[in-house]
Amino acid sequence: MINKITHKILAVSLAISSMMPIFVINVFAADYSIVFGNTPPSIVNFNSPLSSSSTSGFVAVTSKWNQPRSSGTNPHNGVDLQAAVNTNVYAPYDGWLTAISVTGPYDIDFLVDANNNNIQDDGDYHIRFYHMNSREPTGKKSKGALIGKSGSQGTSAAHLHFGICSVSDGLKWLRNELNYRHLSSTNWNSGKDLDAYAQVQWNNNNTASITAYIMNDGVKEHFSDVRMYYRTTTSGAWTDGGAITRSGDIYNYNFSGKVPSGTTVQWMMRILRSGVSQAAFCPAKFYQPDNNPNASSYAYGYWTNTVR
Ligand SMILES: [Zn+2]
Repeated sequence: MINKITHKILAVSLAISSMMPIFVINVFAADYSIVFGNTPPSIVNFNSPLSSSSTSGFVAVTSKWNQPRSSGTNPHNGVDLQAAVNTNVYAPYDGWLTAISVTGPYDIDFLVDANNNNIQDDGDYHIRFYHMNSREPTGKKSKGALIGKSGSQGTSAAHLHFGICSVSDGLKWLRNELNYRHLSSTNWNSGKDLDAYAQVQWNNNNTASITAYIMNDGVKEHFSDVRMYYRTTTSGAWTDGGAITRSGDIYNYNFSGKVPSGTTVQWMMRILRSGVSQAAFCPAKFYQPDNNPNASSYAYGYWTNTVR
């Protein structure tokens, strides 16, 4: 286990109305432990955990992975699905049900048999299910088998929280959308309803692109600000590349004219949600990082590409 650097900074902001003697105080703790990863170890076709078949179970997404929000882990470390107490939960893929207790006594840590050989040799590839109300016996489960029932253990409102994660180097939550890309656009928008950002691309040798939007209790919303940050030297300061104009759900940023041809850029995007002061970053890495990536010496995540 690699030593994790945990550093918490208490940031207190005071918004003082000039007209009224009212103080609005927002308190959040920046946490530079690495809690998010990126792509899963391999891409396979998952079912919805709320269906035993591949053609149903695409219920309202109440909150996406890496979505900024006003309570709980921020950004959100998994996907929340609308589910009443005692809704059946099924194995999204072949694998092994193991028991954990994180949010409640019936949580599940499911080991994915990604290569379908019935042996636990699939690397660090887990799916976690939280707030469960009951759990089936541990052991091998086929895709579509009942694994338990959802609930509200450890949370105020019933829902199913699930997410792909790796655990061997400290728990890190990974992108979910890639395993749902096989779905049609009418089913969770081919998986893009699950993660705050998806379809990360580098196009035409000069353009960074992501698909990004919010799911707020089943209703799609767009971010109030999606901003490019880039640099051309590792550990240099981040350049604020400005707000990116949205095209549908897609944000494209063309580096032509920004840096000379042949330049290798490290880039990331910051996503801001109306009404939530805490931003999230793409790629995801920390909880509650400073909204200004130059305010901290901690290394934010980034992608690397060369402009041609
Ligand atoms: Zn959740």
